[in-house]
Formats: sequence, structure tokens, C-alpha cells
Amino acid sequence: MKEKFAKFMAGRYGTDRLNMFMVIVLLVCAVINLFVRNGYFSVVLSSWELFLILLIYIRMFSRNISKRYAENQKYLAIENRIRRFFGQKKYIQQQRKDFHIYSCPQCKQKIRIPRGKGKVSIRCPKCGAEFIKRS
Ligand SMILES: [Zn+2]
Repeated sequence: MKEKFAKFMAGRYGTDRLNMFMVIVLLVCAVINLFVRNGYFSVVLSSWELFLILLIYIRMFSRNISKRYAENQKYLAIENRIRRFFGQKKYIQQQRKDFHIYSCPQCKQKIRIPRGKGKVSIRCPKCGAEFIKRS
């Protein structure tokens, strides 16, 4: 049985991250569908599930490996962009927790001051203007 399957899969694409992502979306759809009482919405979800299952199988058993590979690369690029976006958000949040961001009253240069130091005199590194702020 295992050998038969291996033979069947020879020269076929198999699975990748895009397929794994689609499996997760499929599972999420299926779980949501368990709780949906609205008939129309349930049909829409079921169609999505069917569509995803078909897509996953078609990609897995595809012999056009280069095309499937290109699809996966495209997906990975999008995934990376999303990851970077959220990574940046997290970084900014961390910065907000530890620093105050002031802008210089003269040149609007943004200056980062550590929090919790009381009143501090800040000297703008760009134009040299001095101003006092609470950190
Ligand atoms: Zn300045």
C-alpha cells in the first residue's frame, strides 16, 4: 500500500507551505461551519471547503512541478510581507512602552527619550534646540 502510494506520487508535486496554509484555512472553515446556524452562510462555507479540498488535491497530485513551485514562492513572498508587517508593529509597540517620542519644536526632528526619568532637558541632535519634557 505504501509502495503503491509512493509510486503514484512519483513525479508529482506533493505538499508545500501553500498547501499547508490551505489545509489550515479549510480546518478553520470547517470549525466555523460547526457553529453556523445561518443556512446561506453555511452553504458558502461548505463550497469554500470543497473548493479548497479540490485545490489541495489538484496541487498535490500535479505533475507541473515548476508551476506549483512558483505558486508556493508567490505565497511565501506574501507570507513574509505579512510577517514583517506584524513584526514591525510589535517593534513599534515595544518602543512605545520603553520610550517617548518627541518632535523638536524647531525642526520637527523626532527624538526618542527613555521613559521614567522625570523632567529632562532634551537637546535636538539636528538643530541644537533645547527643550524640557517629561519622560
Ligand atoms: Zn531640532
